[in-house]
Amino acid sequence: MIKAVDWSKYFSMDLKKIENIQTNFGVKKVYAMGLMPVRGPKGFRKLDYKFAQNGLNVNEVMDKLEECHINVFGLVIKDTDGACTWDTNIGWNPTDRDILGEFCDAGKDRNIALMVSFTSMNDAYQGYLHPERVSVHGKSGKKHGIEYKKGEISTHNEGELRVDLPEGISFEEYQKKIPFLTNKIDEKLGASRATRGQGYIPLTSFMCPNSEHIDYLLELTKEIVKNYHIKAFFADYIRYDGAFIDLCACDRCVKLFHDKYGEKAKLINSNEWYDFKADTIAEYAQKLQDTIKSINQDCITGWFCLPGPKKLFSRKRLGQNWQKISTILDVVSSMEYPYLMGTRDDGWFWGKVGDFFYWYFIRNMKKRAHEFGNTPVLSITNSVECNTEEMLKQMKGFDFGLGIALFKYYGTSESQWSAIKKYAEDELGLNKDNTI
Ligand SMILES: [Zn+2]
Repeated sequence: MIKAVDWSKYFSMDLKKIENIQTNFGVKKVYAMGLMPVRGPKGFRKLDYKFAQNGLNVNEVMDKLEECHINVFGLVIKDTDGACTWDTNIGWNPTDRDILGEFCDAGKDRNIALMVSFTSMNDAYQGYLHPERVSVHGKSGKKHGIEYKKGEISTHNEGELRVDLPEGISFEEYQKKIPFLTNKIDEKLGASRATRGQGYIPLTSFMCPNSEHIDYLLELTKEIVKNYHIKAFFADYIRYDGAFIDLCACDRCVKLFHDKYGEKAKLINSNEWYDFKADTIAEYAQKLQDTIKSINQDCITGWFCLPGPKKLFSRKRLGQNWQKISTILDVVSSMEYPYLMGTRDDGWFWGKVGDFFYWYFIRNMKKRAHEFGNTPVLSITNSVECNTEEMLKQMKGFDFGLGIALFKYYGTSESQWSAIKKYAEDELGLNKDNTI
């Protein structure tokens, strides 16, 4: 058996803040499951609007969650493609369906609290619609086979998502529906975890966090919090693109930077520059907080954070200052996916890779937990693309006291579902009302 870490030594979460979350969700321990409606019925590497439109059965999902004692449901209402899967007047909804509204209705008669995840800076559709709002490279370079030049916008081939043409629909027709789809095909299934997609390759864009994209996001936020009964709103991709170090050097950002630090301050590679990036992201967090709370004081706000090295990754690339954002939003969700890097199911080597990352992620949290201050931290870990044993190890290892969230509904195997139910009953003491 895995020995659980005594996380209370590392975190100093405020009890009042934890109580507030428990009261809002109506639970003692959070036991959450996430669902990404636009990523098809299997894993998370397909972009599939047809499934979102016709295949997704809301009541079936909620029945399953209830049966397994899941008490918080996390719906990704806006994914990296940019589709807005609710009844929107402002955004783009290619599913022609109010998926958020349907889940709100289905959740009413059940003891399942609804939280939403909202992708912020990564938005393929907005990148297509508003290239002038996409972040801009400040240097020329080559990364993962992508060549880019100084001054070019950061719209690149998507690394993870692939698209299959629905039966009887030509590429040209489908491109009208998904305007950011390219005619390039990824045919081979790669061995490494990052090259597992198959199908047509869409483009992806990281938007500039000093552009009008922020106003667009805030308008969408208003729409959601006003019109839907949600318990929590979590911002995902509240950061710069982690693949590059030179974003965003658009005219807007450069001007703001020099206004703040003077004409001589150095772009891209200086402490001032990294501070500027972190402040830009924190400002967005503050706007989001103010917008949500002005409409519904009780709605819990949160953000997703990527574990990793503080200086090289969080600061230089992502622009995520954990300390700063934690003082603004109510909860942080750390994304702990070690067995997404490798699973024993793919052979001995990949099992070892997963084990290594498990060790690293635990160590990273021990080292960095203090950066969250007294803000509650709820981890999300993966059930998809790992086996039952690995999933349980992660669920136990990354429960910092508040509970655990799982990613994701589609792709979780039947054996994993059984284990999820059993874990709820034996380890968390959740009964059929999903309360303790
Ligand atoms: Zn910019």
